[in-house]
Amino acid sequence: EAKAEGRNAICFFDPAMQAVVTANAALTSELRQGLRNQDFVLHYQPQVGREGGMVGVEALVRWQHPQHGLVAPDSFITQAEDSGLILPLGQWVLETACTQLAAWAGRAETEKFSIAINVSVRQFRHPEFVEMVMKAVEQAGISAHHLKLELTESLLAKDMDVTIAKMGILKNAGVTLSIDDFGIGYSALSYLKYLPLDQLKIDRSFVKDVLTDPNDAAIARTIIGLAQSLGLGVMAEGVETEAQRDFLARHGCHCYQGYLFSKPLPIEELEVFIQRLPQTSS
Ligand code: C2E
Ligand code: MG
Ligand code: MG
Ligand code: MG
Repeated sequence: EAKAEGRNAICFFDPAMQAVVTANAALTSELRQGLRNQDFVLHYQPQVGREGGMVGVEALVRWQHPQHGLVAPDSFITQAEDSGLILPLGQWVLETACTQLAAWAGRAETEKFSIAINVSVRQFRHPEFVEMVMKAVEQAGISAHHLKLELTESLLAKDMDVTIAKMGILKNAGVTLSIDDFGIGYSALSYLKYLPLDQLKIDRSFVKDVLTDPNDAAIARTIIGLAQSLGLGVMAEGVETEAQRDFLARHGCHCYQGYLFSKPLPIEELEVFIQRLPQTSS
């Protein structure tokens, strides 16, 4: 029995485990250094709405690593969460998104755009999360209506009362609330009706094979129907083909994000993308 040998014996003499611990510690210290050096950047992926017009962007963080180049968030967000560094990183994302919204304010093409940011559970559960959001909005001098928070279903696993209360304050202040990657996590369907939500975002994994896998098609249709019956908006992520878009549209989903429209872009390229959009009369 491994347990009989004592906890230290297991961890200390398992070279694989030791390697993981060492690698995690090294990544944490690199992340801390990266934050200090301001090596993180936001890329922005366009989101399109009903008439094919752009309605906003999702801000997605990347790490401009001095040795490894541009690193995708899947390689470091978990470690940032586990180490607590997601708090300063998330704060930076929040402030950067609000600053970008301030830069767009008053410009005709971007007037109605929202920026969606991803919020980790650990960030949301911080006792002062709501205050930090309100402060960032205030300091940037923007309207909270342009800020969207993408939360995850894992938030619903515990402390529902606190979660609902926090969401309520944000929602009352005008912030838009979306549940990201909907369908892959802990779905407290019975609780959905109590959440002051605006939108469900269909996870990319269901969109991918929506045309060929009857189960994915059924799940996508169910999420769209669920959103509709709860009076929520619904957006599909990872839309890569017109056929996927058409399927989703046929079943009542009219907001999309995906490579069909654009990959996430650095701000300079996003500005070019916006300039090239057909001008809608308003
Ligand atoms: P997510 O929030 O679900 O973001 C969507 C991911 O799908 C992004 O990956 C995006 O680049 C990718 N994507 C969008 N359209 C398509 C498509 O048509 N095809 C394919 N194959 N992929 C598409 P990315 O940028 O690598 O981000 C991965 C995840 O990292 C995000 O998933 C989000 O959970 C997390 N993340 C990103 N930025 C932040 C952040 O600032 N804070 C936190 N807490 N998490 C973040
Ligand atoms: Mg997201
Ligand atoms: Mg998502
Ligand atoms: Mg996703």
